[in-house]
Amino acid sequence: MRFELEAECPDTGARAGRIHTAHGVIETPVFMPVGTHASVKGVMQRDLEMELDAHVILANTYHLFLRPGHELIRQLGGLHRFMSWPRAILTDSGGFQVFSLSHLRKISEEGVLFRSHLDGDSHLFTPESTVEVQLALGSDILMPLDECLEYPASHEGADRAMRRTVRWAVSAYRYFERRLEETGSVAALFPIVQGSMFADLRRDCASELLQLNAAGYAIGGLSVGEPRSLSLEMTEVTTPLLPRDRPRYVMGVGMPEELPEYVARGVDMMDCVLPSRNARNGCLFTSAGRVIIKQARYKDDGAPLDPNCGCITCRTYSRAYLRHLFQAGEMLFSTLATIHNLKYYLDMMRQMRQAILLGRFRAYLDNVRNSAVESS
Ligand SMILES: [Zn+2]
Repeated sequence: MRFELEAECPDTGARAGRIHTAHGVIETPVFMPVGTHASVKGVMQRDLEMELDAHVILANTYHLFLRPGHELIRQLGGLHRFMSWPRAILTDSGGFQVFSLSHLRKISEEGVLFRSHLDGDSHLFTPESTVEVQLALGSDILMPLDECLEYPASHEGADRAMRRTVRWAVSAYRYFERRLEETGSVAALFPIVQGSMFADLRRDCASELLQLNAAGYAIGGLSVGEPRSLSLEMTEVTTPLLPRDRPRYVMGVGMPEELPEYVARGVDMMDCVLPSRNARNGCLFTSAGRVIIKQARYKDDGAPLDPNCGCITCRTYSRAYLRHLFQAGEMLFSTLATIHNLKYYLDMMRQMRQAILLGRFRAYLDNVRNSAVESS
C-alpha cells in the first residue's frame, strides 16, 4: 500500500492524495460507506461501484467473525470475492463492537474475553487473533485491537487504556508483519491513536505509535457521546503529530457539516453509519438542508428530492413517491434513500478534493461555514 500526497491547502491542514491498494486507488479525502455484515444495507455492490463510485467500503470484523465466520470467508476466496466487491475494503478490529455490543467483557493483557450478542458463546479477541481474522477476510486496510472507552472517562482510566492499546498495537503489528512475510500479502495495518478526550494522552499515544512506522494511522475513540467540538479538538491535537506522507483516518465521524472541518484538520479518511442509518429512517441530506420525508408537506411534491443531486433517486423519482414508499414501509425506500445520502456524502468529499487540488479549499470552507451560520 502506498500513499501519494498530491496537494496540501496552504491555509488549513487539508490534503488531497491517492492511496494505492491491491484493489484499486482510493482518492482522498474519502468517505467510506459502512458495510457491517459485508453489505451496505439496501445497496447492491453494482450501485456502490457504478452509481456512487465508492473506492473503498468498511466491513466489521466483530460481526463477520461471529457470522458467517472468517474461516468460511477465507475458504470462499476472501471477502472481496464472497461479497463480489472488486474495490478496496477496510476492516475495523472488532474492538469497538466488543465494547459496545457484546456481553460480559473481561479485559486482560492477553485480550478481551466476551460473549457474542447473537448466541452468548464466549470468544477471546487478542491483538494477534484479530489481525488473523482480518487477514482471513483479505481486507486491504486492517486495524489493531484497541481498548475503547465510554465518555466521559477519567484521566487515570484513559491513561491505562491508552497504554494497553499501545502494547496491543505493537503485538498486532509484529504479528501482522510476520504474517505478511509468510503470505506475501500487500495489506496495511493502521495503529489507532487513543487517549479519550485528553490532549496529553493523545500526544503520548501518537508518539509511541509513530515508532511502528506504519503505512497509515487512525484516530479512534471519538463519537462516543462527547460534544462535537471536543472530537474536533482531539483531532486537531493529533493530526499534526502524524507523518505527513501517510494517510490519516478518523473513525466513526461525522455529520455532513462536520466533514469539511475534519478535512481542514488534515484528515484523509472517514466512515460513519449516519448517512445510511438516517436514510432508512427517512432523514435525507440535501443541498437545501435536511428533508424529513414523512412530513405532510411532501405528500404532493412532484419535485426531485434534491434538484442539485445527480443520483438515480433524484434523477428518477419525486419527493411524493419517496414519501409514499416510506409511509408504506416499502423496501425500495431504504435503497433509494441510502443511495442518495451516500451520494451526498461522496460528492461532498469529491468537491473538497477538487477544491484542494485547485487551491480553493479555504474559500470552500468559508462558504460552508457561512451557510451553516445562516441556516442555524
Ligand atoms: Zn440524490
